[in-house]
Amino acid sequence: MNTSVSAQVTPFAFSLYIHIPFCRVKCAYCNFNTYANLDDRYSDYVRALNEEIQAMGRYWQRPAIKTIFIGGGTPTVLNIPQLKSILSACRTAFNILPQAEITSEANPGTVSEAYLQDLLALGVNRLSFGAQSFDNTELKLLGRLHPAEEIGDTLAAARRAGAENVNLDLIYGLPQQRLNTWRNTLQQTIALKVEHISLYSLTLEHGTALHARIARDELPAPDADLAADMYELADDLLADAGYAQYEISNWSKTGRECRHNLTYWRNQPYLGVGAGAHSFMTADRRPLTAIDSSSPLNNYPENATRSAWGVEKINAPRTTRYAGQRWWNVKSVSAYIEKITANGKTPHPHPSLGDWEEIDRQLEIAETIILGLRLTQEGVSLPAFEARFGQSLAEVFGPQVKKLKALKLLVEKDQRLRLTSQARLVGNQVFMEFL
Ligand code: SF4
Repeated sequence: MNTSVSAQVTPFAFSLYIHIPFCRVKCAYCNFNTYANLDDRYSDYVRALNEEIQAMGRYWQRPAIKTIFIGGGTPTVLNIPQLKSILSACRTAFNILPQAEITSEANPGTVSEAYLQDLLALGVNRLSFGAQSFDNTELKLLGRLHPAEEIGDTLAAARRAGAENVNLDLIYGLPQQRLNTWRNTLQQTIALKVEHISLYSLTLEHGTALHARIARDELPAPDADLAADMYELADDLLADAGYAQYEISNWSKTGRECRHNLTYWRNQPYLGVGAGAHSFMTADRRPLTAIDSSSPLNNYPENATRSAWGVEKINAPRTTRYAGQRWWNVKSVSAYIEKITANGKTPHPHPSLGDWEEIDRQLEIAETIILGLRLTQEGVSLPAFEARFGQSLAEVFGPQVKKLKALKLLVEKDQRLRLTSQARLVGNQVFMEFL
């Protein structure tokens, strides 16, 4: 059989993020766009989300999707029929590639084996659990619902349900956390033989219960030096256990890197749907033909407000090769639902748009370097950089790179620029040089 060349070409593919902004309770440290006690909004939200997915699919002409990440929030507060309808909407609206990675976040102690089995049957092939700690005092401090014992139980249920690719999230640098409780958390995580581990240093966010307690002197502030020791301990223990670090905060078994998050770190285009979700599109990946003069878009009744929606900019001729857009949806759940379902008819191509910004070449370059340097093994490929921007990295940031190399914070090898191991703890100091 004659197979045409074009049939062999893998289409350019996006990553897709789906935001579910609901949780059973709000954890003490969390300032994500997520809300507890909105159970009565779930079905309206799912309906609106499915509308947005369909509209996005039409607008981007049923693009190929290589990864889906259902995050939040806690996506598994939704029932299986609701999640099924979301993934069905995705299959209609997008060309989900056969090998697509499809991740769902979940919390230990809140999902049964039967639920997880149904979730996997929907096509979800990666589970990410918010374990955070194996110490019950720390879990209580964080306001988590689950005790430590339930982490292993949930993981065992996930394995029986057929899960082959599991991540655990952990947090370190907590007030009153000790090195030995952190060591125990790491050892228990390693013993569970998960494929992927994400470690997050606690960031104290204004407006959270934990921040307020520290401000009232009920708790000491986190100890930054101790947090650095915890990071180094993790680095040692995880390496001994056969996990390779591939990003500043992420370790995995071979071939189990999170493909979805790699899209972000490689600064590649992605679409986000749901309240508050972000999208990023670069000029080269913008299907300009979708919005030419014959496009139904130009007949859209809201033509008068097209500029406000960002459509005019997207429709503009390419004056620069690199400019892209990043946009984010309205954040409030009520406003999101209202906006999408307004008029009860086909919504605007970006019905949930909250705001957007132009990413100029300079910013895209800086973000490509900063995000790429987070990838501790891959780093920034110098030939790929030049191919993307038409200039070598040395031409754009020669003096900065020279200085950081002299400080032993950057190293160049095999045509890649990487952070040195000592720079991983002071990444921000390095990144500032490119802004
Ligand atoms: S479960 Fe996760 S998203 Fe929800 S409140 Fe807790 S930390 Fe935030």
